[in-house]
Amino acid sequence: MEAQQPILGKSLPFRTINDVAIHFQYKSTCIEYITQLRWNGHVKCAFCGHDHVYELKGANVRYKCASCRKHFSALKGTIFENSTIPLAKWFMAIFIMTTHRKGISSVQVGRDIGVTQKSAWFMMQRVRNAFKNQSFTYDKIGESIKKDENDNPIPGIVEADETYIGGKPVNMHKKKQDAIVKRGSQRKIAVAGAVQRGGEVRLQEIEQTDYNNIVPFLVKSVHQGTKLMTDEHVAYGTMDRLYEHQTITHVLKEYVRGEVSTNAIENFWSLLKRGIYGTYHFISPYHVQNYLEEFAFRFNSRDITEAQRFDKMVSLSNHRLSYQKLICHGKNKANEKKDEKRKTIAGYGRPKYPV
Ligand SMILES: [Zn+2]
Repeated sequence: MEAQQPILGKSLPFRTINDVAIHFQYKSTCIEYITQLRWNGHVKCAFCGHDHVYELKGANVRYKCASCRKHFSALKGTIFENSTIPLAKWFMAIFIMTTHRKGISSVQVGRDIGVTQKSAWFMMQRVRNAFKNQSFTYDKIGESIKKDENDNPIPGIVEADETYIGGKPVNMHKKKQDAIVKRGSQRKIAVAGAVQRGGEVRLQEIEQTDYNNIVPFLVKSVHQGTKLMTDEHVAYGTMDRLYEHQTITHVLKEYVRGEVSTNAIENFWSLLKRGIYGTYHFISPYHVQNYLEEFAFRFNSRDITEAQRFDKMVSLSNHRLSYQKLICHGKNKANEKKDEKRKTIAGYGRPKYPV
């Protein structure tokens, strides 16, 4: 792993946005940095993955594949491809996104790096989308991450729960939340989550908080046989077939029983909600999963340095999303249906561009 992921952060200890701006003031430095993170010195074809390429002469570094003969640059297939915004600004935006634990609005990022709010929003969505499309976020959690004094692995403990984003669900009883969702009077989005104690979190937007939505998420996200802690929600009723399942009964005001509790996932929910309500005010239903991945990424990388996190974010950039695809909401039938169901969340009106 070490050889594949050069942690450039060790030699680039950015402390302020000014450090980033100065270090990446020339395009060539940016390209070099992306090339290093992407291929670690051994450039491969961006189209077919062939490892024999020629470097072409010219002002900008370009390559030609020995197999498929296509030409490409280091930006081919990344979120930076075909962007008219200078790479230095992209890196500044990424740096700002890594340093704000609770998230930051596109208005602020736009101001900080000197682009319009619309451009900043688009850049940030591209970055978030890169998280979503990276398989690393979908490794299962639950395996042992700690050892006891005799070097025996301590089994991992995973807490699972579900929540709603939108309305004022934080202090509301779950029955009431469910009733409101059934009536459809509030635009709410259901989210399933699982967090390993001392480890990573997995999140997914779901249609409803029922068995059919929650169980596939858990099977996908949590290793079978793991100790799983949940509340008494019926959706978790048969989880003991797959996991070492323990339930805490919130209805009876029971919150901790020995090692059984769901406090870790509930703490995560409050962090997520503070971030979403405090910073974004409004999240378009189309992009909920992107925001979830952003929070998950930040949470999961909380123990590495900011410089390392910056490297990691740039190295995830190998996924492109066009502006058209990002804003094609109404043109897609499936989206149209979704739209009708929940036009906005949190009861806010829909601004021209989400912040
Ligand atoms: Zn090729």
